[in-house]
Amino acid sequence: MSASSSRGILFDLDGTLVDSLPDIIDSFLHAFGHLGLPAPTYEQVRALIGHPLDWMYSQFAPDHVPALCVAYREHYPLNFHRRSRPYPGVVEVLRALRERGYLLAVATTKRPDMARKFVDAMGLGPLLHHVQGTDGFPHKPAPDVIHHALAALGTGGLWMVGDTALDLRAGQAAGLRTYAVTWGTHPVDVLAGASPDELQPDLQRLLTHLPPLA
Ligand SMILES: [Mg+2]
Repeated sequence: MSASSSRGILFDLDGTLVDSLPDIIDSFLHAFGHLGLPAPTYEQVRALIGHPLDWMYSQFAPDHVPALCVAYREHYPLNFHRRSRPYPGVVEVLRALRERGYLLAVATTKRPDMARKFVDAMGLGPLLHHVQGTDGFPHKPAPDVIHHALAALGTGGLWMVGDTALDLRAGQAAGLRTYAVTWGTHPVDVLAGASPDELQPDLQRLLTHLPPLA
């Protein structure tokens, strides 16, 4: 597919479109108490957001990973709306890009069913053409989730937007330009180390790169 016909803009979900980290961390920590295990600190967990759930639990309690994942997956969908909200300006930027003719998809490490439920609960469903979760293929920084999302959109990719170096490396591996937002998981120096094309405190500058399509 030629670059001129590509219309795909991909977004990470947690920490990029939605300020969801407090609810994720609350559910992550809840599982330890549920099983009577000592819990890590909030900041220890925060630094790992963006990795798969089982890998995150393996860093703290490698002998209890399956049970912790079960406890999380029971707790999180009942509580993921408590404090989570789209970041300021996200709805407006997605709406503007849609109106300009671009095709928009989430590309997340969340499981597909959870990702869809969460996107809808946050009111973002009508603004996105596709929600691509990760299940049965390598997670970011591998580019697989991006390739799956673009196949579902039926177009080539232009930009990958994310809040972690994992997102940026996945986007680069898929041949996309990369846009890092600084309001999520990874600090500016970590994001800068992955050499994104843009490193910004919000999504506004994305619009300047993406004029209306003819
Ligand atoms: Mg993220």
